[in-house]
Amino acid sequence: MSKLKVLLTGGAGFVGSHTAKILFRSGYKVIIIDNFSSGASKHPYGKFYKIDLKEEKEIIKILKKEKPDVIMHFAAFIIVSESIENPFKYYENNVGNTIKLISAMKEVGIKNFIFSSSAAVYGITEKNPIPETAELRPINPYGESKAMVEKMLKDMAQAKELNYIALRYFNVAGADPEGELGPSYLQPTHLIIRALKAAKGELPYLEIYGTDYPTPDGTCIRDYVHVMDVAYAHVLAMKYLLQNTNSNVLNCGYGKGFSVKEVIETVKKVTQREFKVIEGKRRPGDPPVLVADNRKIKQILKWKPKYNFLETIIQHTWQWLKKT
Ligand code: UDP
Repeated sequence: MSKLKVLLTGGAGFVGSHTAKILFRSGYKVIIIDNFSSGASKHPYGKFYKIDLKEEKEIIKILKKEKPDVIMHFAAFIIVSESIENPFKYYENNVGNTIKLISAMKEVGIKNFIFSSSAAVYGITEKNPIPETAELRPINPYGESKAMVEKMLKDMAQAKELNYIALRYFNVAGADPEGELGPSYLQPTHLIIRALKAAKGELPYLEIYGTDYPTPDGTCIRDYVHVMDVAYAHVLAMKYLLQNTNSNVLNCGYGKGFSVKEVIETVKKVTQREFKVIEGKRRPGDPPVLVADNRKIKQILKWKPKYNFLETIIQHTWQWLKKT
């Protein structure tokens, strides 16, 4: 049997680069399309095309040449606050360029698609942990852009135009335990990285965005999930899709939430460093609690997380940040 070929858009980005490494190490042929816009990994695993997804004609040429069996679509903008300030940037890239990619897939006859969705599609929910069946009520353009693509994929799958798995990531964090890959955003906005940068002395302080949320300590609760476990979920999703051609939407999180204050305490414990913390105002677009009900991904993909400890996630990120 010839080796399966997997094409990853955003394969030099955070989740994409870790997934590419696992796929490559597992013997798949890996093709990466990336524009390097997020300051991502400079040495991605696999064959690499530096190109923006908006270049539809060029993308069609690449797909025709490479004929991948599966496309994993990671490339997207992901910062909630930025999406509120600059919504068109998000709709243009996350929705518009996804439509171009799917149009190219249709033209070339590629049917299998793994989509990076997000817990941001849920918004403020009645239930936590959140099941996939919860109504989607995103409260920011980032979440809206992901929900729009999901809707399109659902309709297309129903019409048998493609088969897909959408993985709704909760808060992806951590880094490659081997220390080779990690988060490399040019301007990090995410809590764990910012807290570690405060611990490292690269930020003067860490600001908590809101202490008046309806949670036990007043700060937002998130389900932090290690990037390697998320990456591995893609490999399982791909195998499932190729075997079953059953489209599906799956939460990807551990089902356990930590508040901003709990994350800060854990960062201090892991780094053994003190840093200044300021209690500030709420950041627009943040739901109070996002925790995954992960029964479906465990049942359907037999996903068995390996790194589901906040300390491990922070330790691996710290190891990476100390190096870079
Ligand atoms: N947060 C914070 N200070 C920071 C960065 C984030 O208090 O410097 C909070 C943020 O308001 C949210 C949580 O940490 O409640 C997680 O935010 P992050 O940006 O890491 O991920 P998001 O949930 O927005 O994808």
